[in-house]
Amino acid sequence: MIIDLKRLYNVVGEKLTLDCTVGRETLDSVKGYSFSDPITIKGAVVNRAGMVLLDYTADFTLHVCCDRCLIEFERNCSFEFSHVLVRSLNSSGSEYDDYVVTESDKLDMDELALTDCLLQLPSKMLCKEDCKGLCPVCGTDLNENKCDCCEAGNVIG
Ligand SMILES: [Zn+2]
Ligand SMILES: [Zn+2]
Repeated sequence: MIIDLKRLYNVVGEKLTLDCTVGRETLDSVKGYSFSDPITIKGAVVNRAGMVLLDYTADFTLHVCCDRCLIEFERNCSFEFSHVLVRSLNSSGSEYDDYVVTESDKLDMDELALTDCLLQLPSKMLCKEDCKGLCPVCGTDLNENKCDCCEAGNVIG
């Protein structure tokens, strides 16, 4: 969804409620992650005393594979984000992460939400924090069973 920010930049007190989803095509183009559900965005853009603030929550479900035991599972994610929207970074411009510079007073909400969400995802996905993984020798799922490899001293590394 492309948001037109012209009124939001020009009218103090102006508010736009966001309730949208990031489209399937956008999500399918993401490498390395498989989305079971579209990203749902709920939030608002507000001009508060001349500052245009964007606050939103993004909810989605990922279909992932545990990095240790290779089990496939669904992970529900919910993240909150806040940004300050600006037409340009002005001369005093120290660059904060939460500043978003918009071109031609338009904001590509899909792109922003996707970038925000991907930054929050851990590089390793585990089915549970203390997943024991697979035995590197015999491949037994150590969450479910025990094997004798460790006792025999065969585990390398
Ligand atoms: Zn696991
Ligand atoms: Zn084993």
